[in-house]
Amino acid sequence: MMEQTTTPTPLKSAAFVTYNQIGRDANLQDGWHERNGRRAFVLQNTKGEGGYRNGRPIGTERRQEEVGLLWGKLRDVLPELDHVVVYVGTGGSERAIALAAQLPASKVTFVACDCNLSHKEMLIQQSGLNEAGRVLCECGGHGMMEFLFRNFLEVGELMPAMAVAVMAQ
Ligand SMILES: [Zn+2]
Repeated sequence: MMEQTTTPTPLKSAAFVTYNQIGRDANLQDGWHERNGRRAFVLQNTKGEGGYRNGRPIGTERRQEEVGLLWGKLRDVLPELDHVVVYVGTGGSERAIALAAQLPASKVTFVACDCNLSHKEMLIQQSGLNEAGRVLCECGGHGMMEFLFRNFLEVGELMPAMAVAVMAQ
């Protein structure tokens, strides 16, 4: 663990994509956020329902639809992005992973809760995204996505030591 990976070219821009809301409050706007010479592109469920509607889960179909819409928007800014961070939850993960497979694995980090984790891992491998980064998170990914987003803007890292430690548990 003493050998730190060196990134010759520091990441300048990354997208954070989730069909949930990033963070617990609805303050974070979709689109570009700039700080410290870095740019983060946020795409989330702008309805701010965190995967729930009227206290009920919105369902896999609705989530997949949401993921599809988000990726449609992402495609427009893809040429400007160095990296994409994607939340992979219980429902809609097939679609998210299939869409992520359109990118080179080196440009993708999956943020996943441990629900059906082996299934998600299988999908990732089947999609040829073995080399993609992985971060384990809580269900919904609200907190971890917010942490990764803020950490990227502040220090320019996508895989902070804390997240890797969580993953190893
Ligand atoms: Zn979960």
